[in-house]
Amino acid sequence: MAAAADPRAGNGNAPARQPVTTLPGVGPALALTLARLGIECVQDLWFHLPLRYEDHTRVVSIRDLAAGGAAQVDATVEAVETGFRYRPQLRVAVTDASHATLLLRFFHFRRQQAQQLAPGTRLRCYGTVRYGKHGLEMVHPQYRVLHGEVAVEATLTPIYPVTEGLGQQRLRGVIDTALTRLPADAALELIPAGLLEPLGLMPLRAALLEAHHPAPDADVAALQAGMHPAQQRLAFEELLAHHLGLKRLRARVRRRRAPVLPCDAGLQRRFLAALPFTLTRAQQRVAAEVAHDLGQRVPMLRLVQGDVGSGKTVVAALAALSAFANGCQTALMAPTELLAEQHLRSFREWFKPLGIEVVWLAGKVTGRARTAVLARLAAGAPIAVGTHALMQEGVGFQHLGLTIVDEQHRFGVQQRMSLADKGRASGEAPHQLVLTATPIPRTLAMSAYADLDVSTLDELPPGRTPVRTVVLANNRRAEVIERIRVACAEGRQVYWVCTLIEDSDLLQAQAAEVAFAQLCAALPGLAIGLVHGRLKAKDKQAAMDAFKDGTTALLVATTVIEVGVDVPNASLMVIENAERLGLAQLHQLRGRVGRGSVASNCVLLYQPPLSGLARQRLETLRRTNDGFEIAEQDLKLRGPGELLGTRQTGEVGFRVANIVRDAPLMPAVQRVGAALLRRHSALARRLTERWVGGATRFAEA
Ligand code: ADP
Ligand code: MG
Repeated sequence: MAAAADPRAGNGNAPARQPVTTLPGVGPALALTLARLGIECVQDLWFHLPLRYEDHTRVVSIRDLAAGGAAQVDATVEAVETGFRYRPQLRVAVTDASHATLLLRFFHFRRQQAQQLAPGTRLRCYGTVRYGKHGLEMVHPQYRVLHGEVAVEATLTPIYPVTEGLGQQRLRGVIDTALTRLPADAALELIPAGLLEPLGLMPLRAALLEAHHPAPDADVAALQAGMHPAQQRLAFEELLAHHLGLKRLRARVRRRRAPVLPCDAGLQRRFLAALPFTLTRAQQRVAAEVAHDLGQRVPMLRLVQGDVGSGKTVVAALAALSAFANGCQTALMAPTELLAEQHLRSFREWFKPLGIEVVWLAGKVTGRARTAVLARLAAGAPIAVGTHALMQEGVGFQHLGLTIVDEQHRFGVQQRMSLADKGRASGEAPHQLVLTATPIPRTLAMSAYADLDVSTLDELPPGRTPVRTVVLANNRRAEVIERIRVACAEGRQVYWVCTLIEDSDLLQAQAAEVAFAQLCAALPGLAIGLVHGRLKAKDKQAAMDAFKDGTTALLVATTVIEVGVDVPNASLMVIENAERLGLAQLHQLRGRVGRGSVASNCVLLYQPPLSGLARQRLETLRRTNDGFEIAEQDLKLRGPGELLGTRQTGEVGFRVANIVRDAPLMPAVQRVGAALLRRHSALARRLTERWVGGATRFAEA
């Protein structure tokens, strides 16, 4: 009850919680638009922070412009030209007192606009400078026509996340109005002073005001880099809020009871005896860690991370075996159909000798087949393998004791929880096991997986040979094709992987078909297969089987083969346009070769010219086979969204924090987080709600 006396602990009438419509100028229509940005109350506006800043405080002379950065210039129109050769284009050459020329280019414009930009007109333009065919240019700069002397802005201009029907100007106005209601620190701060003071961070009120309106003398470079003390204060608080959200989620799950699933030693011995291999020491250790969790009355929340090929599947199978031994069901969910099918095959092969049924549920299982599967699950079929379809409404289990999610980074926390929710009927919460091939650097794991215990498979099964990787420009394709011919003549098998940036099955399939036709023409007499996401499951399987049993020597594929495919005789992989993929994904793909005893090679083909960053990334892959090092590099070069694959699920959608840049804050986040959870749980909840939106992102588990 101490919380009730605390002025911060949830007072519905506090200005923070008042709906946005209490602000002058915000009517129901604008409120609806704001709701699309997740903004409902006044506090949401305070914490709707700029994504970045534009510097309209200075005018740069054209001669001093540097490509790559954004700048503001005052210039006079010299010449205007509209062209329609490939697509409509408006080109405006401008100059200033430095007598250098800058080209402004527009691809969307109105006729009026072209007329307005007559020679002699004075403009103030702001945009990103780059090198074009005819020297420096700005594409679609912001601009306004100048009449007489116009002062520059006094402070940096914040740029906010906006939505259709709500522009920067309008949103800025609403936020400024909301900021007039910002209370004094005592009412605003949620972190108790005793915890906050030792950190030496800026007070929250000052930090918010500075972030929305940087002072005229603010350190521009620091602000642009997100390292200004105001931003660091806010980043700390945001990381803390996410951390607490995950910890509270964990606590909530762990308050529930799970079925105790002790291992059946006899059954396990029979299972292991039937395997075509013996477990590595790492597998034994991790399996024991999992078995220990399964023997407890509280739900397991464990992540098993292990590099590609480290053998995570059999660890998962052992957990499923324990569930079976205790009369509980297991659901294994994988992000793609191909991977789920691979698991289905492994599981059926391993469980068949023990007479344990494994049922299959994917989106493509429909009609009567689906009805039959659902009936089996409701009647207690021991193991279900499938895709997202397992989470859908209408899928029910008799007694779900264990959920396994493979490639966890492709799903979100919420999806994992909704699978676990399928266990509700029995009154107990299932144990949760998640697998990932993306090794997570420790600081990142602390924030991204704060709700999970982590086990690591740090050893590959014996007999694997390291893959040698080369990076080649696409114009050396002919040499690569010759290499394929030689490898196949020696009885080995080859993957040719086609990549596309577009996330379209159709385009990917088309690209693969084009490559397939080219390779068939270049390699007459060679048996070539083709697999992509648009094929029927049956045809996909036929193509995979033909490659697996050696009927085809070369397999042309899209990235659908990224996970799960296992053909030990394949010793060469060619990846086209490798520069388009993330490092983790390339590493995963490359893990498809080097599974047998022959020396394996991977050729990364790229389309020149290659940017410096892209070169560095491919070079990392060439240099090392260590998934951990690759993940760290990827993180440095591209940021966490890519690595965790959560751009789609929106899980790591931070407002100011950046888990890589702000990693040094994590130890303090953990310390303060632990203290808050112990002594101020109401404040912890409000902090998460304030930053993350308690209702949506970390929904009741
Ligand atoms: P990943 O960790 O990438 O999911 P998998 O579980 O798919 O790896 O295992 C990769 C391959 O290694 C599979 O063919 C699997 O049967 C095999 N494998 C797993 N464990 C061992 C082991 N201890 N010894 C030999 N082969 C193994
Ligand atoms: Mg796997």
